[in-house]
Amino acid sequence: MATLPVSASEVERLMRDAEAWSAEERLSWAAERFPGRAVLTCSWQRQSSVVIDMLSRLGLDVSIVELDTGLLFPETYATRDRLVERYGIDIRRVDPAQTVEEQAASEGPELWKRDPDRCCHLRKVLPLQRALEGADAWITGIRRSQSAGRAGAKPIELDASRGVVKVQPLVDWSDEDVQGYLYAHDVPYNPLHDEGYPSIGCVPCTRAVAPGEDPRAGRWAGTNKSECGLHLPLNAGDGI
Ligand code: SF4
Repeated sequence: MATLPVSASEVERLMRDAEAWSAEERLSWAAERFPGRAVLTCSWQRQSSVVIDMLSRLGLDVSIVELDTGLLFPETYATRDRLVERYGIDIRRVDPAQTVEEQAASEGPELWKRDPDRCCHLRKVLPLQRALEGADAWITGIRRSQSAGRAGAKPIELDASRGVVKVQPLVDWSDEDVQGYLYAHDVPYNPLHDEGYPSIGCVPCTRAVAPGEDPRAGRWAGTNKSECGLHLPLNAGDGI
């Protein structure tokens, strides 16, 4: 059982109070409450761009982690490089234990087609555990409007399975809020968002969606999978 960084009663209060806070106040709270122990994970979708711009403007000390599956779009890596150049940030890359080629040798080729849950587990969920080692707060860009499964997300909540406080500064932002921020602050963002990709993951598991289609319909299309597992409680036995 992971040691929790805050008491259940403090989280209870924060879950309520932080609803009224701005995204900047939520980020500031995380950085000040957990100095040196707050981690932002980035997938280089437009939420990453907003949060990195906010951290830079506020001068907050948060470590920035890239969970690189090795299967991201060229545009996604290029977005990361543009953000690094623009903000001068240091990024810690956390890789899966195996390269894509090593995984093909041990698990068989194109695991994502046969068992996407296992592929996400190896390439995302286990690396996240490593990324959060020593951390007390995990900052993510998820938003309630992204999917039905995320509709109940809170600005601050406890991920007891990982032993961290989860901070979601943009949880109540709409698509328009995000895009408006990016334009207002002239922030670099992933160009695939303008090409029919509201949600962007790995190349083999992401397609563009038609206007009016569910924004996450392009992720693991044709399967009943809707989450990679990062935003689900860690299952017992998921240790590295
Ligand atoms: S999104 Fe697809 S390719 Fe990426 S880790 Fe998950 S199953 Fe594998």
